[in-house]
Amino acid sequence: DKVLVSGANGYIALWVLRHLLERGYAVRGTVRSEAKGKFVKEYFTSIGHGDKLELVIVEDIEKEGAFDEAVKGVDAIAHTSSPFHGNVKNPEEFYRPAIQGTVGMLKSALKNGPNVKRIVVTSSCAAILTPSDKPSTFSELDWNEASPKEVEEKGSDSPPMSIYRASKTLAEKAAWEFYMEHKSEVKWDLAVINPPFVFGPPIHDVNSPASLNTSLKTWYDIVVADNPKTKEGLSFSSGWVDVRDTSLAHVLALEKEAAGGERIITTAGSFNWQEWITVANSLPSSVYPNHKLPTGIPELFTSETVYNIIYDKSKEERILAIKFHTKEETTKDTLEDFAKRGW
Ligand code: NDP
Repeated sequence: DKVLVSGANGYIALWVLRHLLERGYAVRGTVRSEAKGKFVKEYFTSIGHGDKLELVIVEDIEKEGAFDEAVKGVDAIAHTSSPFHGNVKNPEEFYRPAIQGTVGMLKSALKNGPNVKRIVVTSSCAAILTPSDKPSTFSELDWNEASPKEVEEKGSDSPPMSIYRASKTLAEKAAWEFYMEHKSEVKWDLAVINPPFVFGPPIHDVNSPASLNTSLKTWYDIVVADNPKTKEGLSFSSGWVDVRDTSLAHVLALEKEAAGGERIITTAGSFNWQEWITVANSLPSSVYPNHKLPTGIPELFTSETVYNIIYDKSKEERILAIKFHTKEETTKDTLEDFAKRGW
């Protein structure tokens, strides 16, 4: 079977490609430029999986029919492309690629993908949670109604994170709407993966901590670079998942019949930032010999710490049943990777 993966050069996507290729699938990845494709091709060639990988360039995913050629002849699709960074001013900068990119992929599959059986869309827990000061549990039944509303009110004065969360919410909603509208015309169904914060070793093209993707850059800043040191920053809590697990979830969601028609939260559990620092300091110093790691404010994580955000894992356990990496494993593998890069 051949799987199309959009945004193939991204942090999560490269791991999706790796799982697919290791499981024997043929993969067609889309990237925005020749140079981005070159890294991906060279990486998989270097680990012996270059022969079943094909890369195509889709320069502008907002364009009508952008994926019309890319979907031809594929059996399944994983759509991961979406902007995630903090330098957004105008909501449209995120809304257009997130929403039009996602709906555009589904439209192209409707038009030119007669063999497509399933489409997996990478959404986010950003499309689920409503930020709150008191501890809350969220499940797939919840939608983030607050961020789109906030962005509607504040426009380009919205905080970048609100714009990001709103873009993910609106893109996922648009995907379900398009699917419901065209259900009877297509042979495929839709599955959505909703990851919280994604951490873990990168295999995509990064040559400095500054060029890391947003979620791992935050982890690096706090756990390795000691920034921010504030009590407020270090006691912030949320859900997390290892990049190797959430990427595997994409592949399992393509394979498992029961994933069809479902949005699925993939999380290993909750964290607070101090906890990662504490875990990092508990590892042997040989894991990260480059410099002394920050110690943070150790009393901000104890056995009594209450996490502010908890995600319901029951659907994931029922349908995908991934054995998630632990914080210790993810921290060790990530720090070893950073150490090798000399960071
Ligand atoms: P990356 O930034 O590494 O990957 C993003 C991918 O989307 C890249 O391939 C990028 O291409 C592409 N992309 C970004 N903006 C555009 C645009 N305007 N037009 C076309 N393509 C674009 O981040 P992640 O791997 O973390 O993100 C992948 C997906 O996972 C996204 O949908 C994100 O929302 C989602 N996600 C991520 C989480 C996390 O914590 N990392 C948590 C939950 C969901 P290019 O390199 O050319 O810019």
